[in-house]
Amino acid sequence: MKTFCGRANPTTGSMEWLEEGEDYDYHQEIARSRYADMLHDKDRNVKYYQGIRAAVSRVKERGEKAIVLDIGTGTGLLSMMAASAGADFCYAIEVFKPMANAAVKIVQKNCFSDKIKVINKHSTEVTVGPDGDMQCRANILVTELFDTELIGEGALPTYEHAHKYLVQEGCEAVPHRATVYVQLAESRRMWSWKKLFPVHVEAEDGEKILVPPSEMENCPGVPSVCDIQLNQMPSSDFSILSDVVTMFSVDFSKPVQSASTYYRVQLEPVKSGKAQVVLSWWDIDMDPSGMINCTMAPRWVKPTSALQWRDHWMQCVYFLPREEPVVQGEKLYLTACRDQYSVWYNLQRAREGENKADEEEHEAGVFVESPVCRCRAHLVWNRSRFGELNDQNRTCQYIKSLRRILKTDSVCLCISDGSLLPVLAHSLGAKQVEYFILFFRSLHFSLVFFSHVFFKANNLEDKIKIIEARPELLKPSHLENKKISVLMGEPFFTTSLLPWHNLYFWYARTAVSAHLASNVTVLPQSASLHMMIVEFQDLWKIRSPCGICEGFDVQVMDDMIKASLNFRESKEAEPHPLWEYPCKSLSQPLRVLTFDFTKTVPQHCLSTEGSVKLLRKGKSHGAVLWMEYHLTANISVNTGLIRLSNEKGNCEWNPHCKQAVYFFSSVIESEIQSDPTAVTYAINFDTKKGELAMDFKL
Ligand code: SAH
Repeated sequence: MKTFCGRANPTTGSMEWLEEGEDYDYHQEIARSRYADMLHDKDRNVKYYQGIRAAVSRVKERGEKAIVLDIGTGTGLLSMMAASAGADFCYAIEVFKPMANAAVKIVQKNCFSDKIKVINKHSTEVTVGPDGDMQCRANILVTELFDTELIGEGALPTYEHAHKYLVQEGCEAVPHRATVYVQLAESRRMWSWKKLFPVHVEAEDGEKILVPPSEMENCPGVPSVCDIQLNQMPSSDFSILSDVVTMFSVDFSKPVQSASTYYRVQLEPVKSGKAQVVLSWWDIDMDPSGMINCTMAPRWVKPTSALQWRDHWMQCVYFLPREEPVVQGEKLYLTACRDQYSVWYNLQRAREGENKADEEEHEAGVFVESPVCRCRAHLVWNRSRFGELNDQNRTCQYIKSLRRILKTDSVCLCISDGSLLPVLAHSLGAKQVEYFILFFRSLHFSLVFFSHVFFKANNLEDKIKIIEARPELLKPSHLENKKISVLMGEPFFTTSLLPWHNLYFWYARTAVSAHLASNVTVLPQSASLHMMIVEFQDLWKIRSPCGICEGFDVQVMDDMIKASLNFRESKEAEPHPLWEYPCKSLSQPLRVLTFDFTKTVPQHCLSTEGSVKLLRKGKSHGAVLWMEYHLTANISVNTGLIRLSNEKGNCEWNPHCKQAVYFFSSVIESEIQSDPTAVTYAINFDTKKGELAMDFKL
């Protein structure tokens, strides 16, 4: 079956109707999936295998047949482990059809077809009985349904159902138990992902401070998890305020309740400071004794044990509703509230001389509803965008360049989603500022709402005019028949995924050309695309074939990922925030394309080709691409490589932006430095489609 899906092209802004074959989503899903990363997670695999062997032995020792239920079998890996460990029969449940098909093939290839039955259903649809999917209830329950937040992929309702209908009472579960840990922390950097800080503007007539609206000060934000590679956060960027506290545990061998609840612990800060965030991770015990433990603890918690790198499980940052000054040794209560899929936190101070009765009364109001953003800014900006807007250095670059180009009679038009530029331009003395809010974008209503609130908080509500229209429908009347003398943008658009999607600014600029004065200043005046060949420390694992996993042949999966990566446009660059994924540069950074915003988008394609030398020994895993915006002559904002150490090639990346990573389909190792290998590249920007295509030859 074919369906047509409409979407706005992120770069050109035009509506496109794409023919979506049934296969399309599945290829995207496989290509971008975490299956490869899981198969490379040695620590996880080894411990699952140990736990499964131990569970099968315990059941056998009781003289029972070992009947396994593996919910979410994926490649069939855990079922094959169980069968090898001597299980009598395994029911391997997988809801995602392409994966269930792959599991059948993998099970066959490894000669387990007589022991493992793959069932392509959601576990809640599985039936038990003589005519059912399962002959009888299982006595071993094996799953791996966890995300970084533990419960975000629906583990709780799945377990709840399985205990009611699919497994025997007193069954063995692998993992046996999961435990969630937290530490209270102060971090200006992480807090800058949650709220807007006041912005300092150095204007001709003195310093002005732009304030965030009060609606935003008290806004609880959104419940979506903030998962990061916490080990990549420099220790100077946060300060730990408490010991590690056990927040809650789930015993998977007993009936599990998924209904909303809360867990409350008492803690005493080990240090005074501002409690802003809760850092959290979990571990799983594969057996009841707790001897086989797989942990996501960050480096400072288990400094001696070797860290397993993984991307499918990281650490979480939870933002407290408001920052709370805490004093070393005082008595605090931390509450984790959860629903079926997400967790959120609250901090309360124990009252002076509190007794048991008070404490109970105190507890009554402890569960708070899941956070709902009231200021709408959290719907418009994601966490890294908040971080970017709070980057005062970056803001200074815009202020400096605006100061250079603005005149008292400037008529400004800003094109960017949820931008501070209109307010900055006004504070710097521009007479007329129009803020273009792009009417067709999905977040349009929230954007308009939030902009009004923000302007009002700074007494600018009647000073900056919001125009809600598509750029091509801009009319002279919108601008009171004046011509625009300054066209500005960051550029930033909420629909952008890859760095060059923000070139939408160029398309919008082209669409409003008729309204520009002949001597218009465009800020940024141009943008450039940069490229560098890198060796990743770990990120390569997410796209690399696994071959044999714990003795099982999973090549079928490798082939499937490869086919999906090559399917249609799936073979393209993907966005990754590289501050979380260390890499080493193997080539010099290279400016490959330039986009001149002072002119309209040309009709012809922009292309370039050449070769780049590999200067350092290492494995070329791929190319990284990023954009730089040239605001005015000599002032640029870089969204990619910030610093490069020339000896070792260590890279420092812009911490607020995702860069584009193009993984090479095969890896080459550069060896000799005297006769460097070269990588040839061809890059083409199709101006009509707004698409960037690239090809590399090693
Ligand atoms: N067990 C495999 C794969 C884990 S990924 C391994 O450990 O390597 C989790 C898989 O569970 C995904 O393929 C997902 O599609 C599937 N899944 C999640 N919830 C499910 C449910 N309730 N019923 C069936 N499959 C489920």
